[in-house]
Amino acid sequence: RSFIDFRDVWLAYNDELLRAGQFAVEAIDLQVRQGEFIAIVGPSGCGKSTFMKLATGLRPPSRGRILIDGQPVTGPLKISGMAFQAPSLLPWRTTVDNVMLPLEIVEPFRSNFKSKRKEYEARARALLQKVGLGGYEDKFPWQLSGGMQQRASICRALIHEPKMLLLDEPFGALDAFTREELWCILRDLWTEQRFNVVLVTHDLRESVFLADTVYVMSKSPGRFVAKREIDLPRP
Ligand code: ADP
Ligand code: ADP
Repeated sequence: RSFIDFRDVWLAYNDELLRAGQFAVEAIDLQVRQGEFIAIVGPSGCGKSTFMKLATGLRPPSRGRILIDGQPVTGPLKISGMAFQAPSLLPWRTTVDNVMLPLEIVEPFRSNFKSKRKEYEARARALLQKVGLGGYEDKFPWQLSGGMQQRASICRALIHEPKMLLLDEPFGALDAFTREELWCILRDLWTEQRFNVVLVTHDLRESVFLADTVYVMSKSPGRFVAKREIDLPRP
């Protein structure tokens, strides 16, 4: 069984666009194995963000069916973690408190979170250590470099142990050296934990370095037009 399974998925953003037959993505068929790392590349406006919104359930499709891990998608935080181009850490929270945020949201009762706080905090600190942010756990976002903030935002995306990590241009704002450092950190986390990854990027080198499979999406209509399986030796 595929972990991500899109069958003939179409999306028009509103009724007017639907009536006019203007779809942001068309006829998407995509099957992704458990634990696979895929990248999606394509020009601006081709439908990459729309694909992400569909995969997280932020938008229901106009037509077609989407299953994630065999289930219809219900809400963004249930099985996925997300990170974007801007790290968007909350400025009034320390690094470790930012990383714990999804745990507070996922936990249905405030009192539950309080009683597990010690355990969660230890988990967040261990993860921060793993990505090289040991010593920065109690600093505020403004005390961290852009690359460090982005590492923290990836930790935040992974802290509730999602089965799927969705990354929309996560390294786009970083300099080339920091970017490659973060590629390695991400690949190490993935090698160890084998969550599914969907990475949207404009950087072809990045897609080839990181992903098992690269999907190329065309502009107008937004469809996948090519698929390339990468066969690289993994560490
Ligand atoms: P990408 O992420 O590849 O840049 P998007 O998924 O954002 O592409 O956009 C795909 C198409 O859908 C584009 O034509 C865009 O203008 C349109 N679109 C995106 N979001 C909306 C929206 N909220 N309402 C209407 N049209 C949208
Ligand atoms: P929402 O799910 O609330 O539409 P979006 O982030 O998709 O959230 O869009 C926010 C607002 O911006 C919406 O009102 C949407 O119509 C508009 N919008 C975003 N991107 C586009 C686009 N490419 N073309 C037209 N409208 C857009």
